[in-house]
Amino acid sequence: MIVLKFGGTSVGSVDSIKQIINIIEQHRQEDMSIAVVLSAMSGVTNQLIEIGRMATNGNPDYLELVRRIEDRHFNVIKALIPVKEQSKVFASIRGVINELEDLLRGVSLIRELSPRTLDLIMSFGERLSTAIVTECIKSRGIPAVFCDARQLIKTDSQFGQAEVNYTLTNQLIQDFFARNTALQTGGIPLITGFIGSTEKNETTTLGRGGSDYTASIIGAALNAERIDIWTDVDGMMTADPRKVPNAFNIPSITYAEAMELSHFGAKVIYPPSLQPAFARNIPIQVLNTFNPTHAGTLVSRTAERRQYTITGISSIDDIALVNVQGSGMIGVAGVSAKLFGVLATNRISVILISQASSEHSICFAIDPRAAQQVKDILDTEFAVEMSHGHIDNISIERDLSIIATVGEGMKKSSGIAGKLFSVLGKNGVNIVAVAQGSSEINISVVINKNNLSKALNAIHNVFFQSEARILNLYLVGTGLIGSTLLRQICAQYAFLRSEKLLRVCLVGVSNTKKMLLDPKGVSLDDWRERLLTEGVTTSLPAFVEQMKYYNLPNSVFIDCTSDKDIVQFYELLLDANISVVTPNKVANSGSFAEYRRLQKTALNRGVKFLYETNVGAGLPIINTLQGLMTSGDRFLKIEAILSGTLSYIFNNFRSGTSFAAIVREAKEKGYTEPDPREDLSGMDVARKILILAREAGFPLEPDDVTIKNLLPEACTAAPTIPAFFQELENNNDYFESLLADAESRNEKLRYVATLENEKVTIELRSVGPEHPFYMLSGSDNIVSFTTERYKDRPLVVKGPGAGAEVTASGVFADVVSIGSYLA
Ligand code: ADP
Ligand code: ASP
Ligand code: MG
Repeated sequence: MIVLKFGGTSVGSVDSIKQIINIIEQHRQEDMSIAVVLSAMSGVTNQLIEIGRMATNGNPDYLELVRRIEDRHFNVIKALIPVKEQSKVFASIRGVINELEDLLRGVSLIRELSPRTLDLIMSFGERLSTAIVTECIKSRGIPAVFCDARQLIKTDSQFGQAEVNYTLTNQLIQDFFARNTALQTGGIPLITGFIGSTEKNETTTLGRGGSDYTASIIGAALNAERIDIWTDVDGMMTADPRKVPNAFNIPSITYAEAMELSHFGAKVIYPPSLQPAFARNIPIQVLNTFNPTHAGTLVSRTAERRQYTITGISSIDDIALVNVQGSGMIGVAGVSAKLFGVLATNRISVILISQASSEHSICFAIDPRAAQQVKDILDTEFAVEMSHGHIDNISIERDLSIIATVGEGMKKSSGIAGKLFSVLGKNGVNIVAVAQGSSEINISVVINKNNLSKALNAIHNVFFQSEARILNLYLVGTGLIGSTLLRQICAQYAFLRSEKLLRVCLVGVSNTKKMLLDPKGVSLDDWRERLLTEGVTTSLPAFVEQMKYYNLPNSVFIDCTSDKDIVQFYELLLDANISVVTPNKVANSGSFAEYRRLQKTALNRGVKFLYETNVGAGLPIINTLQGLMTSGDRFLKIEAILSGTLSYIFNNFRSGTSFAAIVREAKEKGYTEPDPREDLSGMDVARKILILAREAGFPLEPDDVTIKNLLPEACTAAPTIPAFFQELENNNDYFESLLADAESRNEKLRYVATLENEKVTIELRSVGPEHPFYMLSGSDNIVSFTTERYKDRPLVVKGPGAGAEVTASGVFADVVSIGSYLA
């Protein structure tokens, strides 16, 4: 005998019921003896509860809801039962609905909804669905027998979640199956899930999700070969697929693991269902009605070897934590005994307990709906202890969730808790409480509810997706650098995935006009199109708010602008555990205090603030400098040519060419800002050398940088760009003389920034052939670090220091490095 249980969605529509009938027919064709347990149509139990409440409040609209339930059931009859047989079935279903309406009328008159009455109201869901499916099957010529489980399952009178009297129940089930003649002659029993009755024949229910339990009780009583739980997913998965889109099937799992997962929220199996099956060693197969050829999950004593250290993750989304605290609890035997005794007497179910070894406090998790009641009970019960000061405080914390990581594999391996806490830490998820069962197959953490989705996905990522860690990117600025970066990432996507085990997901993109955020990801090859068609008007605060709202794990904000306003958000972002990568120099070249604050925030939050491209585009300048700093080197001197524009100008300024002509040529080639004075003023170089100085450990302010002006006053003062060029021509002799002077010493003119003796100077200098800056071509940047370790010959980094391709690739490298860090 195999017991097949079909859940709410499996009986939820005409199509799904057809699917059930196919599955039942298939079993018959294979000559298998089966018993079928059915849930109410999806959503009906909730609606019945709502109807009961409405009736109690005297709200007559409940009738409208009853009509809707009736229609839904009638539609199944119309679709699946031949017309000439329909009227009989309509009549019998109508009879059941009438009974419900009579009951509700009574409730609305007395305006009271006892748990007893609510159970009776809820029982109609399973009674209706099972009666109809039985008729549908019969109409196909298959003998089917409607069985009301209230005659089979006997319980105590704890309405809402009744306890089963197994002795009586097993006897009743066995007798029924042995004696029912229709069953004896090959009839298939269709049994209502979820409901039972007391010895006085009052209707009870087995707790929400209890149809699974019914199947297990029947299976155990009949010593079934297997219990098949048919639901709407491919078996038990590594996490709830509604919350973790990357969750995947677990082929086999032990009873103990399934118990832990379901106890902590995996509603795919109702926890008490595992007990009867476990006791009789009956395997449970979880299958998908909508994908019946998938093997699903086998729950049994042992599970096959797996490649992952944990089996699954589950969560209870809403819990409250009760904290009982007091120095008087230390060493005083019996406080916890009394505490949990009181809770048990009041039938408060405790989901998790955590006690510090100091015994100074005990905290436990409960259903938040019971929180106030628990507080009142404990305040009363422990009044004496509180008045003596043994207990200081009983407090309740709400809006929390529990995440449980479960797996038999955890017993044998160390470092699981470390990995768990580390990934939560890096994602800024604060852990409120922790509990590890002594069986070592479950580590549970209590966290704030608003971090649940992020935490689940991040944990799933580290434990199950070693083949690809996710990096969620938000990009602001789709100009040359931003769009080049996206093109580079797109081209490198497959490589990153296979070789760096990194899956890059663009979740937000914005330019000055439009912004688009999509937590499912914006494809890297059609972001432009989507931004244009689906984007909304840009608002940076809204963009940032949305990022915080999504609260995705491993988030990185990339600022590809040179905007001053965006920088104001960096601290907020880092504080929200979002890493920041940027070529934008504004933040690092403002006040030293701001620079420090960002560094500190990133450090405290365990996220990254990376800006390699602030200086020399993609050249490894800042990384090299930081490497030297962290390894304990000391900087004696930094010399650098940090402007591609000025490098180009002085590399090409030779006798015979006018300085004005070179500047004009550089401008025409697009190497300068629209007004070349912005380059020639040295301001940009000043920002870069200031950043290098700070990285080298010198707390300098912008004013500490001395810029020796390269341009004669008349050039600086020229009102327009053409006037400026005119002034350059007028001052040609001045530039010629600078050049001639240098050449007379066999030297070259270079615009050099120097940090030495804690002073930063930017000036036009001439250097001889012995100097590393003598040989320089094109628009190259060069930096020379003289340190204690590189004293005799400096460490030199040289190469193209500007351009979209190299800048974007520098940003790209920073982003990828965050991927490895966060893993
Ligand atoms: P049924 O109505 O068939 O009893 P339920 O809704 O009670 O179905 O349970 C199935 C649902 O359980 C799935 O749709 C899924 O969203 C949820 N679920 C939660 N955790 C898990 C998990 N670890 N594996 C599979 N499903 C899960
Ligand atoms: N119909 C019941 C519920 O919704 C039982 C079940 O579906 O398992 O809780
Ligand atoms: Mg269920």
